[in-house]
Amino acid sequence: MVRQQIAVLGSTGSIGVSTLDVISRHEETYRVRALTANSRVSELQRQCERFQPDVAVVGTAAAAAVLARNLKAKGIKTEVVYGRQAICDVAASPQNDAVMCAIVGAAGLEPALAAARAGGKLMLANKESLVMSGRLFMDALKESGATLLPIDSEHNAIFQCLPHTALGRGRFHLKGVSKVLLTASGGPFLNRALEDLKGVTPEEAVAHPKWVMGRKISVDSATMMNKGLEIIEAHWLFGIPSEQIEVVIHPQSVIHSMVSFVDGAMLAQLGNPDMRIPIAHALAYPDRIASGAAPLDLASVGTLAFEAPDFKRYRALSLAYDALKEGGSVPVVLNAANEVAVHAFLERRIAFTDIVDIVLRTMDAVSPVLTMGCIDDILEEDRKARSVAERFIA
Ligand code: NAD
Ligand code: MG
Repeated sequence: MVRQQIAVLGSTGSIGVSTLDVISRHEETYRVRALTANSRVSELQRQCERFQPDVAVVGTAAAAAVLARNLKAKGIKTEVVYGRQAICDVAASPQNDAVMCAIVGAAGLEPALAAARAGGKLMLANKESLVMSGRLFMDALKESGATLLPIDSEHNAIFQCLPHTALGRGRFHLKGVSKVLLTASGGPFLNRALEDLKGVTPEEAVAHPKWVMGRKISVDSATMMNKGLEIIEAHWLFGIPSEQIEVVIHPQSVIHSMVSFVDGAMLAQLGNPDMRIPIAHALAYPDRIASGAAPLDLASVGTLAFEAPDFKRYRALSLAYDALKEGGSVPVVLNAANEVAVHAFLERRIAFTDIVDIVLRTMDAVSPVLTMGCIDDILEEDRKARSVAERFIA
């Protein structure tokens, strides 16, 4: 059997590592063709030794030289290249059967767009790219005929609850859907007194009660900006207006999201909180393969609880709904300011509660641009918002 050639962008991250874990369970079906990382070169080297891809991409020329030398010394023939264009070239290669887009933040936009334009199968973890360029991205998919499979657990769950048609190629429809419900664990501070939030540390913020994830998305989960970004992501992925997207707090993180239909039925997708489940789903779609995740034991879960989110505690949710309604450059500004603020918080330059304040102030300060014609417009608004947010932080 000819093995499917997989490119993993952001292979040293949390999603990247989980993707390689699933692939390693099915090496008769999948082969790692390309790996990319930014700065964790020794981790990437270990991955190259294990999977022997055709290409590996790193951030800088210096890192590429080190990796190339080390791999050569071990007799590994992986070609080593570096830089943003090299990642985009890997993403767009006709040799890929599927691309996992798992770079974090705005840095993932151009590679994901390159994969969308190339056609083929795109597994999208990088929600920021849809937040920033939803229309451009979905148009690119339509034009190229690419198939998009959502990796974000909520969107993957919704996808599984909808009639079985892959996204892309115009095969997707929402007949009879009245609402999608994104579940949210509430993060580590669900029950923390509001006045105590100012003093929480980066260590506390990244200690998610249910999921093990990268640092940026973990902080986003604590502020609930992650759910905010996911509202915008759901809008673009499923073509559903914001009034039909709801968030429900579900601390057990067993139901990954739900779809309710006009007849009163509601479908949910359940599983342990393990990203290998949506990754395996996307890899094998429409088949099913083992992911390595433990099966869900309902008796030991016992109770599933739900509550409506408190918009005063989670102001990021309101900001995201506002950004989606205003459209144009506003979601780009929201995303950029959030990235800058989360970074500053992780570096202990601002307090936890400053993150959403800075996003709010940046959204107020940057005048919105109504239509974003091309990727350069989007990147320009991203740059502008970052420098305004940096000023507020300083
Ligand atoms: P992570 O921080 O663990 O890993 C990020 C990866 O991106 C690393 O491989 C890193 O080398 C690469 N990277 C970072 N900056 C880069 C740059 N400037 N250029 C090139 N590569 C760069 O992140 P993660 O938690 O794996 O998340 C990845 C994406 O998946 C994010 O968009 C996140 O929102 C989304 N996601 C993650 C999870 C999860 O459970 N971790 C769940 C749903 C969605
Ligand atoms: Mg998610």
